[in-house]
Amino acid sequence: MKVVPIPQLMDNYAYLVVDEATQEAGIVDCAEAEPVLREVERERANLTSILPTHHHYDHVGGNDDLLAAKPGLAVYGFDDRIPGLTKSVRDGERIRLGTLEARIIFIPAHTSGHIAYHFEKERTVFTGDTLFAAGCGRLFEGNAAMMIESLSKLLTLPDDTRVYFGHEYTEKNLRFALTLEPNNAEIRDKHAWSLEQTKKRIPTTPTTIDSEKKTNPFFRWRSPELRATLHNQFPDLPMDDVSVFAKTRALKDVF
Ligand SMILES: [Zn+2]
Repeated sequence: MKVVPIPQLMDNYAYLVVDEATQEAGIVDCAEAEPVLREVERERANLTSILPTHHHYDHVGGNDDLLAAKPGLAVYGFDDRIPGLTKSVRDGERIRLGTLEARIIFIPAHTSGHIAYHFEKERTVFTGDTLFAAGCGRLFEGNAAMMIESLSKLLTLPDDTRVYFGHEYTEKNLRFALTLEPNNAEIRDKHAWSLEQTKKRIPTTPTTIDSEKKTNPFFRWRSPELRATLHNQFPDLPMDDVSVFAKTRALKDVF
């Protein structure tokens, strides 16, 4: 399996997933068709499917142009707001891409129809706008409890799973994480690294589940340091998981 990140719009990523055994390929989250079609050509890949994580324009805006260029593409998705949807999928369902197989993980909260594509054998997951490096998506169509449940599904994946996310927000996300856990050396080191990458315009994708467990405040609602920071700033904040997570998300919304 080969994964090629393709920058889209301001800070989005589409991902070309190529089954190297057959050259069959799928595209995760296409906002703009042209750069994707160029990459398909360069890889000499046979694009057969579109794999959108959710219906937002910056993840599906290129679907119609892709379908015009390559009629007959399969368009997967959970949400019927996805342009060109041909194959509705549900949690736990498996889809094929050449010799590769992906399992659908239903992870609502950013939108009510958000999914991840988990290529179990290849230890790879595409998480769209639900899980970023050191961040999570805004709660547009769900609440903190729902996002905790969705992220908890991703937390159970093997530690070495590569996580390909929807936006290049890593540097700012880690800067925010440091405000909650200033003594977390893993966050400090990764922030320094992300700053270098960003300066050189090198993508920080993918991350891993292990790295997120150590650095992502939205995986770390149990962290004593994070809780202590919140308690100092908001002495009346109840310290249950949902309250801690919701406060962290609210602070990030205005960071
Ligand atoms: Zn989105």
